Amino acid sequence: MHHYRIKDIFTQKPFRQKVEIRGWLKTRRDSKDFSFLEVNDGSCLANLQVIAPSALKNYSDVIVKLHTGCSLRVLGILNESPAKGQEVELLADQLEVYGWAAPDTYPLQKKRHSFEFLRSIAHLRPRTNSLGAIARIRSSLSFGVHKFFQEQGFVHVHTPIITTSDCEGAGEMFKVAAPPGSGKNIASKLSPNYEFFGKPASLTVSGQLQAEVYALALGNVYTFGPTFRAENSNTSRHLAEFWMVEPEIAFCDLAENMTLAESFLKYLIQYALEHNEQDLQLFANFIDKKLHKKLEVVLKSSFSRITYTEAISILEKTDRFFEFPVSWGTDLQAEHERYLCEEVFAKPVFVTDYPKEIKPFYMRLNDDNETVAAMDLLLPGIGEIIGGSQREERYDFLVSRMKKSNLNLEDYSWYLDLRRFGTVPHSGFGLGFERLLQFVTSMNNIRDVIPFPRTPGSAPY
Ligand code: ATP
Ligand code: MN
Repeated sequence: MHHYRIKDIFTQKPFRQKVEIRGWLKTRRDSKDFSFLEVNDGSCLANLQVIAPSALKNYSDVIVKLHTGCSLRVLGILNESPAKGQEVELLADQLEVYGWAAPDTYPLQKKRHSFEFLRSIAHLRPRTNSLGAIARIRSSLSFGVHKFFQEQGFVHVHTPIITTSDCEGAGEMFKVAAPPGSGKNIASKLSPNYEFFGKPASLTVSGQLQAEVYALALGNVYTFGPTFRAENSNTSRHLAEFWMVEPEIAFCDLAENMTLAESFLKYLIQYALEHNEQDLQLFANFIDKKLHKKLEVVLKSSFSRITYTEAISILEKTDRFFEFPVSWGTDLQAEHERYLCEEVFAKPVFVTDYPKEIKPFYMRLNDDNETVAAMDLLLPGIGEIIGGSQREERYDFLVSRMKKSNLNLEDYSWYLDLRRFGTVPHSGFGLGFERLLQFVTSMNNIRDVIPFPRTPGSAPY
């Protein structure tokens, strides 16, 4: 006899066969001769309906005592269901409990819980429909990311988590330190300034600089890993630890970079629609009635492309109130980004060519000497989802930007070598994976699309 995942029961429908399932009880309802049990095993959103006849030998001392959260194993015959709204049901002839969940202490009951409450029980929340659906969509899109790049011949590079170079130069890096005495000699035990790596080290804010190394050898590469930012922003779109997808492409300019970003985003949305429809439907039912419409708009539209200068003039002309005033030279805030893509264009918008002062040193200086070849992709409901640029490939220009940013050139000699030896025009971008998940599910808070969120003041589990 076969142990089936419930998802496979629904797709393969092994009618009139004896099957075995294992999972957790969602609900129990008793009628005269039967109990109806809704069982979920995490393989899909839908529960399997189990019919437990009162003739079963453990009916009165086990089955009628089952509650939400109990784990069990059921053996029985799969039948077509006469009931409306479901195709199959399992007529149990044997049921065993792995573990009980006391109804007075188990925090997840049949009713709907707020996402805020669920965050406080992050060790149990994946058992809910919504958090389970998010976990499946997240896994599926992660696979989609790899599929997209692998199909196009990109090489996946594992860039380091611990680093001694600061990519964004914004001083938002977590320090990495070893316990005293863990160094290689006795002096380390005595020196409070001993550095395990020989100099101060941090958790990476981006794998870009190292990805550039591999792009300038292998052509097209990508990295997909955790990144860390010690920024004190308690917003619904910032985490201290998040996952970023970063392709880096040799022989590629800013326009081609945007074309890749646009097709990447569309691919992932299409991927979710094709592989996660049942889970997406949950969000369409309970979170955002217009979810599919929203995703369709992105798939069908060709994204707008405007310069930063054009964006500023649009923002200056509107009589809309903004908390943060804008003028040429200021960075765009989420409220400006959302106004542009939600109200002005009503579709995704690339904003390009930002002032060099508000962007990092590695972005390529434009001929106007004022702006750099940067691009941010803005999405309705999210704001910035992708940030990218054409990289400065000219040695002298790069050195001069680095000096202005007060970077120690010696620390970056390896990065400068890429411009000294066989430099090529190249570009890349970073997509925030959690923001993608927020967009695809319409979940409002980024803390609910990652299993264990890390935010200022909070890193339990
Ligand atoms: P923002 O202005 O929204 O804070 P950023 O400009 O600092 O973002 P980048 O350095 O361009 O972000 O990073 C690339 C992408 O990574 C962003 O477009 C966004 O999708 C994502 N991202 C950046 N910071 C965070 C964060 N703290 N939490 C989650 N995702 C983030
Ligand atoms: Mn950015």
